[in-house]
Amino acid sequence: MLSALTEKQEMVYLTHELSKERLLEIRQTQHFYCPACHEQLVLKIGQVMIPHFAHRKNEHCQVFSEGESALHLQGKYALYRWLQFQHMPVLVEPYLKAIQQRPDLLIQQQDKYIAVEFQCSALTPKRLTKRNKGYQKLGIEPLWIAKAKPSFYEGVQCVQLAPFYQQFILNRQLLTFDVEREQLQMYDHLIHIAGRRYLTTAKRTPIHHQPFPLELVIPFEQEKIAEQWLQERERYLVNRLRFNRRGIQDSFFKLCYEHKIMLQALPNWIGIPSSVQLSVHPVEWQLALTCFIRSGVTQDLSSQLYHHNRTWRIPERAIRTYIDFVQRENPNLSWQDLEISSISEEIYRQYVALKFDN
Ligand SMILES: [Zn+2]
Repeated sequence: MLSALTEKQEMVYLTHELSKERLLEIRQTQHFYCPACHEQLVLKIGQVMIPHFAHRKNEHCQVFSEGESALHLQGKYALYRWLQFQHMPVLVEPYLKAIQQRPDLLIQQQDKYIAVEFQCSALTPKRLTKRNKGYQKLGIEPLWIAKAKPSFYEGVQCVQLAPFYQQFILNRQLLTFDVEREQLQMYDHLIHIAGRRYLTTAKRTPIHHQPFPLELVIPFEQEKIAEQWLQERERYLVNRLRFNRRGIQDSFFKLCYEHKIMLQALPNWIGIPSSVQLSVHPVEWQLALTCFIRSGVTQDLSSQLYHHNRTWRIPERAIRTYIDFVQRENPNLSWQDLEISSISEEIYRQYVALKFDN
């Protein structure tokens, strides 16, 4: 923690650079207490972490119970300095008694409040929802910033996001902060492919060049994104073939075989990303769906697909959107490629045009 109460019930903050000597002096003469549970705190002045307060035994405290890492402390400190530099009214670790929460930072922006949470440790979906609900109750807008991934590249790419990162995606954007480089790293236009894989356009900005409020506009480069999508689809098919141990018994290859279609000739409209997040790759369910329709099964496609593979559970909405698109572009479902531009147009329509609708 960077904040504490003194004996006189005054808040103190370790947000300004104080010399080690000065801090040691303060520690000699003052006692500090937790603003939430009022337990006595220790002022830690060490070599590794920046100076901070900590509970002696933190298992009793509900609000400040997260063991704070050096990365978290330092990131919080850097973000605070950045916002202060922008002359934003910002509080560090304010304890919001009504909801018993303590965001890392609280910014006042005209008549609204924004709670910044710099998240470095795992958070259960339940706790994330609870915190968001708490903020909602007070009319505070949360801004989740996750710690940076170990490596970062700019531009259009395919990226793997662990569930830790997936939970902070909002409006198809993910904001991360690289504490060491003092960079905001933004993943925009996130398009889920399957499992942990996403198409995205990424950009980094040194925080000192980044004004607040954040207006991170990254253009949607439709052609490049479609190209990246084709590569990703190709990669999937190659791996699918390489790691198939069931031969023709594998449901995917069985379908290809039965419908006399070579893997290399699989038309490009099979494998289009869906705006519904699914664990199965779109190539799988879209081939199955196409084969069902071609063989005359049109009734209740979602339950057909469901029975085809019980783990898929493709929602009606995804099926409907896909069929509408394919039947509009290729009414006979012939095994021919579509113009890549019409596919990229569809991706754009689903992901950018509808971005703020769902
Ligand atoms: Zn406490």
